[in-house]
Amino acid sequence: MEITSKELHDHLKKFFGFDSFKGTQEAIIQNLLEGKDAFVLMPTGGGKSLCYQLPALLLEGTAVVVSPLIALMKNQVDAIRGFVEEDMSIAHFLNSSLNRQQLNDVRNALLTGHTKLLYVAPESLTKEDNIQLLRQVKISFYAIDEAHCISEWGHDFRPEYRRIQQLIQEIGKAPIMALTATATPKVQNDIQKNLGMLDATLFKSSFNRENLYYEVRPKLQIDKEIIKFIKANSGKSGIIYCLSRRKVEEVADLLVVNDIRALPYHAGLDSHTRSQNQDSFLMEEVEVIVATIAFGMGIDKPDVRYVIHYDIPKSLEGYYQETGRAGRDGGEGQCIAFYRYKDIQKLEKFMQGKPVAEQEIGKQLLLDTVAYAETNTCRRKVLLHYFGEEYGQDSCHNCDNCLYPKVQFDGQDQLCMVLETVEAVKQQFKAEHVANIIAGQSNSIIKSYNHHLLDLFGIGKDKSPHFWNAIIRQALILKMLDKNIEHYGLLELTEKGRAFLRDPEPIMLTEDREFVEEEDEDGFVGGAPKGGGGGGDLELLALLKDLRHDMAKKLKLPAFVIFQDPSLEDMSIQYPISINELKNCQGVGEGKARKFGKEFVALIAKYVEENEIERPQDMVVKSLINKSSNKVYIIQSIDRQLQFEDIAEAKGMQMNELFDEIEVIINSGTKLNIDYYLEQAIDEDKLEEIFDYFRHDAASESIEDALDALGRDFSEEEVRLVRMKFLSELGN
Ligand code: ADP
Ligand code: MG
Ligand code: ZN
Repeated sequence: MEITSKELHDHLKKFFGFDSFKGTQEAIIQNLLEGKDAFVLMPTGGGKSLCYQLPALLLEGTAVVVSPLIALMKNQVDAIRGFVEEDMSIAHFLNSSLNRQQLNDVRNALLTGHTKLLYVAPESLTKEDNIQLLRQVKISFYAIDEAHCISEWGHDFRPEYRRIQQLIQEIGKAPIMALTATATPKVQNDIQKNLGMLDATLFKSSFNRENLYYEVRPKLQIDKEIIKFIKANSGKSGIIYCLSRRKVEEVADLLVVNDIRALPYHAGLDSHTRSQNQDSFLMEEVEVIVATIAFGMGIDKPDVRYVIHYDIPKSLEGYYQETGRAGRDGGEGQCIAFYRYKDIQKLEKFMQGKPVAEQEIGKQLLLDTVAYAETNTCRRKVLLHYFGEEYGQDSCHNCDNCLYPKVQFDGQDQLCMVLETVEAVKQQFKAEHVANIIAGQSNSIIKSYNHHLLDLFGIGKDKSPHFWNAIIRQALILKMLDKNIEHYGLLELTEKGRAFLRDPEPIMLTEDREFVEEEDEDGFVGGAPKGGGGGGDLELLALLKDLRHDMAKKLKLPAFVIFQDPSLEDMSIQYPISINELKNCQGVGEGKARKFGKEFVALIAKYVEENEIERPQDMVVKSLINKSSNKVYIIQSIDRQLQFEDIAEAKGMQMNELFDEIEVIINSGTKLNIDYYLEQAIDEDKLEEIFDYFRHDAASESIEDALDALGRDFSEEEVRLVRMKFLSELGN
């Protein structure tokens, strides 16, 4: 079909309302109209859909668009229907979600030649019925969207995609357009070979997204850092990607507890909730969506301002795709990934049961990810190089490595030591073992192999095993070492490694990075026990105690009922100046903060201003532990007047553990009515006596003091129980 540029622009305006083509769209469309195959490599948001939608409307027959996502298809069909107002029935989709009636409608539209665009899921295309149907239809061309799904080397391999070429043969030949937003040179070749379109015209847009800022941070205090980041960017939209559903839920909860409007999104949620959460994000009812990679394909929110990777992704293609959802409007887009090597090892473990070929691929993809995370050169350069594009400049001025260069040193000797040691242990050991040998750290395994007797043992004992582990990883990245697949993780020398040993030369390595720092499994940060005493502002603490004393007098309450000492100490460290901040202090719950907090935060605010105090930048992160299910269960059970013994048993606790929990609940400001239990557990007179003691005589909340004062008729349990009642009634 021949058409002038002017005519094409007219159609663009008429059907889509746009005045000009984006990037190479026009050339791509012209190429197709000439009947030629095309391979379109264009970043997310580049405008790939239009490359097949417009020609589909112009050409005779039906264009078949293969696309992997049902949701995405519906979106696109709706969009087209919106553009082409006069006729509602020119775009349809075929997938397993259609009922019989809908299927019939599509059939009719196809057979009467009304359908210009037919979206099909790959698995629907393979159905014999559908093939028979399509054989009766004149096909204008085939568009294979998300074409990277064809390649096992892509980040989203789908076996059904492999059959597309064969199905096209069965249905009838027509030009093919393959489109994707990510393809390494290898993946690209795979796709073209598989679709039998090695001669296709290649349209490759630059993958450089200049407005995106890339940064990798060590995954150390991740929860705290993320909350800090979000608060510093409040009012902006962001996405947080996690690898597991469980993590998604956990992080979303954590954000909510910390007063951030966030919702989860993953394939385990029912479809209603999922689309509701997605809509809330699009409508900006929430600022953050925490998601697995299931989220984002096909959604078009132009002003996502940051994308955070809570876990390092399994491949750089996935990473590029996901970060690509930031700043689609060309505005700010911060891409922050949290990385620790342990996560890579976890992913490696998951792969172990899989076929060797698949492992080989997975391992390579991970290695590329590690190389990206640990690189000390421009991240943009590494990313673009990965997609087969050379970035001409040395510095992009928009990634952490360009803005804050890392320390490097000549690691020739260190690298040789590593390679020699791997050879000395006959390539039969893993990284940790090799690192321990070099650092001279003996253990039972090393002794059992007599490796502590090696000449090389302790050759690098001036550095820690951590340091040597980092060198080993850099050797892997440099491809001087490799990990054995069959016996996963055993280090082997590569040809390149041997060559280096024979003829070493200076080579720049990076100082041991923070990334290797050990950290407890998903260790919770903040909120957790902070312990009393020390570190506080003593002057402020004295003022706070005075205030407590005055208030106690005024309210005719013992001072400790108002706030206990650890709470005041924490205030003298954190300088809370609002009720909300006050709630983050130890032992201060909602109830207490409201009831007694006002005077305290007013005093602190005044103090902070008068003394020009810089309040800690580090806000306290409330951890989910505060909401532990035990606590919730206990509160509910006491509301329902269950026996304490039963509550303890249900939760597998000792009575004194239950008491501890109840005291924590009350001390942080929740009112609990335990009268129903006291009535039967304690004699009425005794109860009154203990209560009076705390009300009038007690100088502190100490149980020992109380027992001393009350005499031997009273048990510790009784005193504790009454103290609970007392603190709950007067303190909350
Ligand atoms: P991709 O599939 O490459 O990620 P889309 O096809 O979803 O991108 O298009 C991204 C956005 O760009 C859409 O909002 C689309 O309407 C818009 N767009 C496409 N072509 C043009 C154009 N020529 N002018 C203006 N906007 C366009
Ligand atoms: Mg697309
Ligand atoms: Zn850079």
